[in-house]
Amino acid sequence: MRIVLVGPPGAGKGTQAAFLAQNLSIPHISTGDLFRANISQGTDLGKQAKSYMDAGQLVPDEVTIGMAKDRMEQQDAVNGFLLDGFPRNVSQAEALDVALKADDVKLDAVLDLEVPEDEVVKRIAGRRICRNDSAHVFHVAYKQPKSEGVCDVCGGELYQRDDDKEETVRKRLEVYHTQTEPIIDYYREQGLVVTISALGKVEEVTARAMEALGR
Ligand code: AMP
Repeated sequence: MRIVLVGPPGAGKGTQAAFLAQNLSIPHISTGDLFRANISQGTDLGKQAKSYMDAGQLVPDEVTIGMAKDRMEQQDAVNGFLLDGFPRNVSQAEALDVALKADDVKLDAVLDLEVPEDEVVKRIAGRRICRNDSAHVFHVAYKQPKSEGVCDVCGGELYQRDDDKEETVRKRLEVYHTQTEPIIDYYREQGLVVTISALGKVEEVTARAMEALGR
């Protein structure tokens, strides 16, 4: 299956993507994770991306599209993938369509995670992520780790992403509304969009998503 996951920051895309990718046996491709890996490795690409990410803005398409395409061309993604955080604007969606067409394949679905805005802010401000694996996500109020600051899964250090600070979150939400939401209409015209509520327990949302995907 080839799936695109969309939703505002704080909808739980990363968490859901990890479970869904596992259930569907396809790789989870997150452009945000790819950028963060480049930043921690000190690559040129990471240096180019960092200032945009810290400001809550989109990294320019010239950088992002090439990186996403390189990842999709890797062997493990030949038969499917779950895209998390890409495309994030209409021109990226168009570039993805061109790339898929060149390979004579199509998207199967665009899963739209819906969550009210006040909930988004609460979720993000308390979010703490493991340095070893961004799918290990905790929350200071909703999902406390057994030992403060330490990942229950692997013992890694928990930290707050720079772009999870309140000011940046507001900017990211604005960017989501103006630039990313239009891709939902773009894909609706292709009959690909399934919308589900992202409220409730993680496993409830995963079950809802699997059902919406016909699995
Ligand atoms: P995420 O982990 O998906 O929330 O992404 C974190 C940040 O990385 C975003 O706020 C953007 O600055 C950048 N980013 C991730 N994916 C993209 C994309 N497809 N296009 C542009 N910027 C992106």
